[in-house]
Amino acid sequence: MPAEGALVDRHGRVHTDLRISVTDRCNLRCVYCMPEEGLAFLPRSEILSFGEIARVARVARTLGVRSIRFTGGEPLMRRGLVELVGMVAGEGFDDVALTTNGTLLVPHARALAAAGLHRVNISCDSLQPLRFSEIRRRGDLGTVLGSMDAAEAAGLSPVKVNVVVVAGVNDDEILDFCAFGRDTGRLVRFIEYMPLDAEGSWCRDQVVPSEELLARIGAQWPLAPVAAAGGEPAPAERFRFVDGRGEIGVVGSVTRPFCGTCNRLRLTADGAVRNCLFTDDEVSVRAVLRNGGSDDDLAVAVRKAVWGKLPGHGINDPGFLRPVRSMSMIGG
Ligand code: SAM
Ligand code: SF4
Repeated sequence: MPAEGALVDRHGRVHTDLRISVTDRCNLRCVYCMPEEGLAFLPRSEILSFGEIARVARVARTLGVRSIRFTGGEPLMRRGLVELVGMVAGEGFDDVALTTNGTLLVPHARALAAAGLHRVNISCDSLQPLRFSEIRRRGDLGTVLGSMDAAEAAGLSPVKVNVVVVAGVNDDEILDFCAFGRDTGRLVRFIEYMPLDAEGSWCRDQVVPSEELLARIGAQWPLAPVAAAGGEPAPAERFRFVDGRGEIGVVGSVTRPFCGTCNRLRLTADGAVRNCLFTDDEVSVRAVLRNGGSDDDLAVAVRKAVWGKLPGHGINDPGFLRPVRSMSMIGG
């Protein structure tokens, strides 16, 4: 493991993107993410404080991390998130983003932008009010659409709309979402359903392969691939509508894995650094933080987490085992 320089893993991938989960709690219970009841939340004492998170971010910045994304659980469930955004954004990252379910954003959008947040991804899996409530179990579509307006009014653009596509649940809305993106200028990102639901009920038949999704869209509105900005690796493959009415993103984690160029690492709410959504190998920085460790000790811990990354997530291998933590506990 290199003692200095960029955050590189043993396969040569350089890591520049840190996703920070600020809470494992959520005010919704989306069917593909959390059970209706019974998921135990972390005790407060185990959750990193703002000072601890900001310190890890600062060290990550010195190790070449350029992009930060706040996530959860629902990040806006963490009281004082605006203050944390300010603390982390002050470290000078190129990109500071937030993934949210959009239910609590409206009153905070302007303050978040003022604190240094650049943009938001807002999750929304149906444009039909009843179905929206069935998938997300709580919350309502109107509030989430309103949060997209509020984000844009606050300058948190471009708004990206995350849509988890589940076969037989919302895949009949793929074209409706494209029309929505074409009309509003919002960038819709279709995400393949991953085996990270807390109930362990994921099955392959529920995945709509990105290739099929693209064929369905292309038959209505021809698409052309868009190269990633600055050659940066990105999980979402981008496609523009050939008629010039915007673009979509496709996150094909299951059928078109992008592990070979993955540049992400994650910090869980309880201070574990994970190098992959699908791994159980974690390195605790909380132990370093709370045992009087120095910034150098923190850097070694983060380097160690990155160095051990496997070449791929293995979802398609016969022996694949789901990770113990589910999506709401890792942060998407
Ligand atoms: N609560 C916030 C939200 O819903 O946007 C942030 C956390 S959520 C875990 C991050 C993203 O992961 C969301 O876009 C959500 O739809 C997505 N997600 C959750 N469970 C998923 C699963 N099993 N497969 C694919 N995406 C999932
Ligand atoms: Fe909560 Fe986001 Fe998971 Fe839905 S996807 S249950 S909003 S953490």
